[in-house]
Amino acid sequence: MVDNNTVMKSGRCIECGTRETDGYSCNELFGFPLVLEHNDPKLYELHFWLVSCYMIQHPSNYTEEGYKHLVNLFIDAYDNN
Ligand SMILES: [Zn+2]
Repeated sequence: MVDNNTVMKSGRCIECGTRETDGYSCNELFGFPLVLEHNDPKLYELHFWLVSCYMIQHPSNYTEEGYKHLVNLFIDAYDNN
């Protein structure tokens, strides 16, 4: 799992704003699809999209330069299929 120090406040993620679900934080919920894709090669093909979407919505763990690099990788992957 991505090491993430995203904080939930009053039941909401302070970064992406989503509500916690069944007591799980945003980062804990992110772990579920990671487990699913680990057990399914078809899902694992989409790993980059899963992780990069999560990371883009939770930028506090990255330097500004690292974050920009990630966004550029995402744009390049999306534009070039
Ligand atoms: Zn979040």
